[in-house]
Amino acid sequence: MHEASIMQQVFDLAFEHQSRHPGSCIVRLRLRAGDLAGVIPEALCFAFEAMKPNTPAERAELEIERVPALLHCRACDRDFEPFEFPSACHSCGAWQTEVQRGTELELARIEMESAEM
Ligand SMILES: [Zn+2]
Repeated sequence: MHEASIMQQVFDLAFEHQSRHPGSCIVRLRLRAGDLAGVIPEALCFAFEAMKPNTPAERAELEIERVPALLHCRACDRDFEPFEFPSACHSCGAWQTEVQRGTELELARIEMESAEM
């Protein structure tokens, strides 16, 4: 599954970060996922829940921040948020559009806490 390999990369990054703080555990991961990133948030959550047991993230929560798509029309030079993709320009109807925003998929934040002694 596509989302499982993405989540594996997210975990790799998070665990590398966590390993620099011995004794800590990960309590929250925040992802930014664009509407055009080609991932299904529910599938990311499912992969996250399936993969976190017995890792430094076993008590962690996953937050996914959705980033709405933004297209730029080269015909009339306006930006617009499409209802679907691909989409003609909402102002002039042209199809000469380029993606300004919405393809990002990144680990935005890792929250950790130290183990209590
Ligand atoms: Zn236009």
